[in-house]
Amino acid sequence: MWKTIRIALLLLVLATVALDAWRAKHAATDWQDTLHVAVYPINADGSAAAASRIAALDREQLLPIERFLADEARRYGVATMMPVRLTLQAALTAGPPAAPKNAGMLGAIIWSLKVRWWVWRLPTATPRPHVRLFVHYWDPSDGRVPSSHGLERGQIAIAHVFASRAMQRSNDVVIAHEMLHALGASDKYDPASLEPIYPQGYAEPDAQPRLPQRFCELMAGRLPSESGPPEQAKSLDQCLIGAVTAREIGFVK
Ligand SMILES: [Zn+2]
Repeated sequence: MWKTIRIALLLLVLATVALDAWRAKHAATDWQDTLHVAVYPINADGSAAAASRIAALDREQLLPIERFLADEARRYGVATMMPVRLTLQAALTAGPPAAPKNAGMLGAIIWSLKVRWWVWRLPTATPRPHVRLFVHYWDPSDGRVPSSHGLERGQIAIAHVFASRAMQRSNDVVIAHEMLHALGASDKYDPASLEPIYPQGYAEPDAQPRLPQRFCELMAGRLPSESGPPEQAKSLDQCLIGAVTAREIGFVK
């Protein structure tokens, strides 16, 4: 009896979460109104480099991401004047709970519920954000940052970047990429070779000759290589949103 009630309650919670996620996703990607994105900086390693980088952040520095998305939205015929607006929130001391490694489907569901619970307890942001973007800053002298990931169903994106002003433009690529995951965009590179997948990972798949490509597809993150490893995009100026990504995030119906 109790077991049945417990299972029924769990199913009810999951159904509510799923319905809520569907509604939120629909509202976020219909592009009728401005999509509000709350950006939360986090000092990931407690370093002085991350602290000073976070202290120097302002909204001005979010504008290249906003402009890139506005230009791309317009290119695909989205008529909204300001399709995306990013607002800088107060820095947090810790990010959302980390994703479990190889936890299976149940583990992934529990993790996504934990993240939602964690987000729900954050101070309220105005305007109410459609997407919450958690940007972890790491001391660049360590040379590596953990891989970033977006959580599509919760409209949550988690990005890991280097705490360096000089690397801001390449950080913008990582942040915009993760943000688009939260809107339903999929990766468009081969996870083993990191090489963009043809045609969806190519910004201009119909170009003749096919290589070199002038631009990088944002969800591929790299320019396809003619020889050697694919080159990471250095700034959003080098990137475009490809046709498949545009469909996934609702720029194209
Ligand atoms: Zn990705």
